[in-house]
Amino acid sequence: MTVFDPTAEFTAIREGVANVCAAFPGAYWRDLDARRAYPGEFVDALIREGWLAAMIPEEFGGSGLNLQAAAVILEEIHRQGCNAAACHAQMYTMGTVLRHGNAGQKQKYLPGIADGSLRLQAFGVTEPTSGTDTLSLKTTARRDGDHYVVNGQKIWTSRAEHSDLMVLLARTTPRDEVKSRTDGLSVFLIDMRDHLGRGLTIRPIRTMMNHATTEIFFDNMRIPADSLIGEEGKGFRYILSGMNSERILIAAECIGDAKWFIAKAAAYARERVVFGTPIGKNQGVQFPLARAQAHLMAAEAIVYRAAAMYDAGHNPGVEANTAKMLAADASWEAAEACVQTHGGFGFAEEYDVERKFREARLYQVAPISTNLILCYIAEQVLGLPKSYGEARG
Ligand SMILES: Cc1cc2nc3c(=O)[nH]c(=O)nc-3n(C[C@H](O)[C@H](O)[C@H](O)COP(=O)(O)OP(=O)(O)OC[C@H]3O[C@@H](n4cnc5c(N)ncnc54)[C@H](O)[C@@H]3O)c2cc1C
Repeated sequence: MTVFDPTAEFTAIREGVANVCAAFPGAYWRDLDARRAYPGEFVDALIREGWLAAMIPEEFGGSGLNLQAAAVILEEIHRQGCNAAACHAQMYTMGTVLRHGNAGQKQKYLPGIADGSLRLQAFGVTEPTSGTDTLSLKTTARRDGDHYVVNGQKIWTSRAEHSDLMVLLARTTPRDEVKSRTDGLSVFLIDMRDHLGRGLTIRPIRTMMNHATTEIFFDNMRIPADSLIGEEGKGFRYILSGMNSERILIAAECIGDAKWFIAKAAAYARERVVFGTPIGKNQGVQFPLARAQAHLMAAEAIVYRAAAMYDAGHNPGVEANTAKMLAADASWEAAEACVQTHGGFGFAEEYDVERKFREARLYQVAPISTNLILCYIAEQVLGLPKSYGEARG
């Protein structure tokens, strides 16, 4: 029996993405995972087929698809057992340039991002000392003639080693000199190739899963003044405006993961015979999977509702955050049920379950942690006192 699919009109997209993924089976990801290596061939294949240019308007060489279609692309990648974390930023980080850049910047960068000759994969917001409290970040960009001079440090800047460009959030006016608390931060689009080893240092951070993340140090890095995107001092708002789409897209990846875990576990439960009967005949095995399926369907509905609202021009902050939280919970619940269903084999690398389990854990924390989403819902929907600063959300 098939269940209702809120994305049924995107069947052709699913099939196209699944075709690309078919060339990258579990063995490919296992090998990369062991070496903590970047899936360059996979990213190249997605770029070649145009999937990462989905949201770039046609006038700049993309396919001008909406967020729902983009969510289906990322969901399908994960549903097939692949991982879009190595490249999803190529899809949406350009939104900052598209929405807030000037005509010259769009013309200069978007066609290259669309055809993959320019990689915009790095997004430098988080810092070691300020964490989720973005307004406390310490990296500065000081105007000096027709340049800005950047000093400071970022952490968890993912894919920086595999990116030409980086969107950077830095303080241009000291915090005690701004009128509004949210003023004084600015967004820059930096061509890292011009600065590597000359004021810019990238250091990889090894993590529990294969995620090409880094820390970045800026030491008097001089960037041209026209790297500024939009108006100086308004960068925090620009970054916030991109976060709803990012959260919805990451939520879609979690939906894909949840589908992969449940399908994998159900298949195993049908085939694995213990005590003379398939383990899936036991309700103790069925129920966690059925419960995970129910939660997956509920999360999927809110993810695509949030995407539809976004496409209709609304600002679905509550829906996007709720979608991110419920989808991350659904994938984590499915991951847990999948490991349990597999028994000892859930821990064996060759089953891919333990790798996906490690990968799924991230979304309780990034790009926004569950607690901060709950803080946001408590404040925005329930009218409770705000329990955090002007944090992201
Ligand atoms: C693998 C990986 C990739 C990442 N990629 C990027 C990237 O490309 N670019 C980027 O800018 N960032 C990136 N991040 C950073 C990510 O967005 C942050 O880790 C995340 O937002 C949480 O921030 P933090 O780690 O500083 O935690 P903190 O802000 O230090 O919080 C720690 C814990 O305390 C909780 N907490 C904090 N304040 C409150 C509060 N007021 N109420 C209740 N609980 C609270 C949080 O929920 C969290 O669980 C990445 C992180 C990881 C791990």
